[in-house]
Amino acid sequence: MTPIQDILIVGGGTAGWLTAAFLARQLGTAQGGVRITLVESSDIGIIGVGEGTFPSIRGTLSAIGIGEAEFLQACSATYKQGIRFDHWVRPPGTPGADHYFHPFSQPSQRPGAPELLPYWLGGEAGPTRAFAEAVTLQKAVADARHGPKRVGDGDYLGPLNYAYHFDAGRFATLLATHGQALGVRRVIATVDRVDLDEQGAIAAVHTREAGTLTAGLYIDCSGFRARLIGEALGSPFSSMRDVLFVDRALAMQVPYARPDAPIASYTIASAQESGWIWDIGLQERRGIGHVYSSRHCDDSDAERALRRYIGPAADDLSPRRLTLDIGYRETQWVKNCVAVGLAGGFLEPLESSGIGLIETAAYLIGQLFPFNGDTAPVARHFNAFMKERYARIVDFIKLHYGLTQRTDTAFWRDNADPASFTESLKEKLAMWRCRPPQRLDFITDVEMYLPASWQYVLYGMEFKTEPGAWMAPLNRGEEARREFATIAQLGAHALRDLPPHRTLIEQILARSDRRAA
Ligand code: FAD
Repeated sequence: MTPIQDILIVGGGTAGWLTAAFLARQLGTAQGGVRITLVESSDIGIIGVGEGTFPSIRGTLSAIGIGEAEFLQACSATYKQGIRFDHWVRPPGTPGADHYFHPFSQPSQRPGAPELLPYWLGGEAGPTRAFAEAVTLQKAVADARHGPKRVGDGDYLGPLNYAYHFDAGRFATLLATHGQALGVRRVIATVDRVDLDEQGAIAAVHTREAGTLTAGLYIDCSGFRARLIGEALGSPFSSMRDVLFVDRALAMQVPYARPDAPIASYTIASAQESGWIWDIGLQERRGIGHVYSSRHCDDSDAERALRRYIGPAADDLSPRRLTLDIGYRETQWVKNCVAVGLAGGFLEPLESSGIGLIETAAYLIGQLFPFNGDTAPVARHFNAFMKERYARIVDFIKLHYGLTQRTDTAFWRDNADPASFTESLKEKLAMWRCRPPQRLDFITDVEMYLPASWQYVLYGMEFKTEPGAWMAPLNRGEEARREFATIAQLGAHALRDLPPHRTLIEQILARSDRRAA
């Protein structure tokens, strides 16, 4: 067994540079530890979309050594407190709630206070308050377009949980600069041949411009092409397109009408006839895109829906067109090669799992790193963990579609048909029809989305327990009512304490400029 002293990463998108920078920090590249080389093609661009993140990104940026103000400045980044889902339950113009919110903050749970979900289900929060609104103050703050923190809170800290929206192209550039400062060697070249040894491991990769490159461990970050893990090693791709139907995207960058326009601190996911539109506010523009199912709608109808959503601001813009491979490789680590990012899988952008999965993979590789060259046990654990994580994300995303009451188009009818559900999702829903979800229903280390996120979506989608199957508890109703009232009061207080979103960003950038001067 030969000890691993060097890594070759193929691909310089978010997956490649985030993994490179993270591992350079973990494995002491700049101090003479494991050497890292990243090879990226100048002929093949990065995907350049992926503007919404998950709160774990704060820990990752901090681990890489990027300051929050530097990140906001370099990537035109803004704060994200959750996702607002418009028209997922019922189509526009139908009586009933037209949106729900998935906040990042957990339900408020003061020590000793009763768990609030059963009392919310029992009507103790009042008949009209949606679950997310009743149990956290984040929706009130986000609705008012205030930020999740104050300028004086430390980097990556704040009273409310948050992630970011950012410009994906600028993010890759920032990560590349940091990665190189951390000792990563950058090679601009296109891999055009891969040699395998007699055991089927990668022996060398050949490039057009930089000759032959070898390493102890290869990390495939080559995007949907999956140049190493798919093309060279043949690790099979499990398509999820019969569960998650969207497989095309149109993306536009839309300037604000005014430079001081308020910025939403949440993603809007607006359900359409055959897919949904994302609407993300950055500092200088919005990123707006339509993801849709090509089996339910043609490209020109999809573009019309996107233009209708944006209005006249779209008149002079042409969309970027993308085809999506929805699914994942069950074996992402084969011998001396591990896939990260789109090369490993992609499950549509609805809950921003793409970059979160890159962070998970980079973290696992750093934790499990097989210094002695014995990759087999590490690969088994990595594969088991990632497969389970992907499978649970599939269920979580399908939950958003499968609980719809929409019957207006074939897309929504097909989505609500249990024949399109995974067996594991059917089992979960069967259990929750008899009683509300509990913490122990989830193996939380594997889950990317915590139990509260499942509850926000379940009850946002107006999921119902079978009548008579379960009874709301009554014994601590008085305390629960007091908790609900306190959360509402805290929401009002937070609006005085937390600045408007755009003001917060401007204050943080101005403070950072003053410090630099
Ligand atoms: P890419 O960006 O495609 O990079 C591939 C790299 O490999 C490039 O540098 C290319 O030059 C290089 N390469 C390829 N072949 C070779 C070769 N032969 N030789 C050398 N180099 C090569 N994720 C989120 O977390 N949130 C979101 O909101 C989100 N929205 C999305 C919306 C859409 C429509 C899509 C398609 C994806 C979205 N994602 C989102 C996913 C996210 O964009 C990706 O996970 C992320 O950008 C990582 O991409 P990547 O680095 O794996 O691949």
